[in-house]
Amino acid sequence: MNSLATKLSVAFILVVVLGVASVSLLVRIGTARDFESYLEARGGIYLARAADSLAQLYQQNGDWKNAQPMLSDLLRGPTDRLVLSDASGRIVGDTDGQLLGRSVDGIDAVNQAPITVGGSKVGTLYLLSFTPGPGASVGRGQGAGPPPGRGPGAMTGAGTSQVLSASLESAYLASVDRAILTAAVLSAIIAIAAGLFVSRKITRPLARLAAASQEVASGKLDRRLEVTSNDELGRVSSTFNTMAESLQRNEEARRHMVADIAHDLRTPLAVIQGTVDGMLDGVIAPDRDSIESIKEEVALLTKLVADLRTLSLAEAGQLKLDRSKVDLLTFAQRAVLKIEPIAREKGITCRVEGQSPAPVVAIDTARMGQVLGNLLDNALRYTPEGGSITVSVGRSAAGMAVLSVADTGIGISPDDLAHIFDRFYRADRSRTRKSGGSGLGLTIVKQLVLAHDGRVWAESQPDAGSRFSIELPAVDP
Ligand code: ADP
Repeated sequence: MNSLATKLSVAFILVVVLGVASVSLLVRIGTARDFESYLEARGGIYLARAADSLAQLYQQNGDWKNAQPMLSDLLRGPTDRLVLSDASGRIVGDTDGQLLGRSVDGIDAVNQAPITVGGSKVGTLYLLSFTPGPGASVGRGQGAGPPPGRGPGAMTGAGTSQVLSASLESAYLASVDRAILTAAVLSAIIAIAAGLFVSRKITRPLARLAAASQEVASGKLDRRLEVTSNDELGRVSSTFNTMAESLQRNEEARRHMVADIAHDLRTPLAVIQGTVDGMLDGVIAPDRDSIESIKEEVALLTKLVADLRTLSLAEAGQLKLDRSKVDLLTFAQRAVLKIEPIAREKGITCRVEGQSPAPVVAIDTARMGQVLGNLLDNALRYTPEGGSITVSVGRSAAGMAVLSVADTGIGISPDDLAHIFDRFYRADRSRTRKSGGSGLGLTIVKQLVLAHDGRVWAESQPDAGSRFSIELPAVDP
């Protein structure tokens, strides 16, 4: 009972059984109600047709002489009896033969039909019901009275008709029951077959999915499923593939990250170790310069560790932001003031653009200071002498506060542009390593801006310059 196939088959059979039971109930109720009127209607039509044939016979002969053999031909079944009277009411035909020559008065017919030829009535045809047995079936009470030879088996029209229709009805219902039973058995067989078919269609892909999930769980991250349909099962398969792909990408990123961290730790450590070993061996003099170089490498390591910590906190959404409302233009001016001495030294001009009143943002000034500091550091690093850096503050069409840092530096190629916000990505590894870049700066910028509910993007043209823009929600001053 645990398998989906069994559950579906049982459900199908239940539906069939309930359907067949309700149809059979409705058919029984409907048949019992309509059967008598149906029989009556059928009898009326039959009688009218027989009367037509007799009218033709009368028209040919001009009398009822040959009516008796024709009456027998017109009989519908062994339970019917036809009686024909002429215009004066004398019986001229009787399929039972016993009432011939008598008066029709008091005859107890189930139904009757007049026979007319050329507009005048030439006779009447009566339908009597008949139960075999010696005797006639002339009506009770008035008229001809009990005919001679009427036996115990003979019955009159009305009573017989009730018994007859009841027996016909039960025969009919029995045949309906048989048909319903056959239909039920056939439907049950089809239900089981359909249940098995449908459940196989559903369970097969599910079983494949279960097996593939198990493989992914055990580390086989390149496992993919074939998507064979467009329905929900197909969508589950393609979602599984997307999930496995992203797991694989994350796993690769994690591996790269560990390798990158190891690499970035190794270089300063090697420099420190080399310098210290040289000092111990007496190859390097333990003077101020040597100790300064060790200090620089230690500073690099400290920054790398701090960057990694910030990044992991931001990515885990655990960065605590100490927000305060700040005028974005003033904030930008202060940051630019800090880098101005270095810029002047490198022959780069710095400018801040923006109109008052500038947008106000609710930010953690230390974290956002780190963001702007990183962007300005990069601009200084990748802009040659004689270039310029412009920081602009304004509003977007949607009313967001926008801050951008544009430089006239070396620019970024479109290929690199797609990756600069990735961890440890450096467009030119040798150069940036020498200048102290770890490839984490922009990743941290992105995470910190995201933590402030903002977004960051870059535009650049190689050899023309780059523009990094940050969008933050503006707040009331
Ligand atoms: P890094 O610490 O190496 O500078 P970042 O994450 O800050 O790392 O930057 C990633 C890469 O993006 C850099 O290595 C550099 O190639 C490129 N980049 C960043 N800012 C600029 C810029 N203003 N002009 C040219 N290239 C840039």
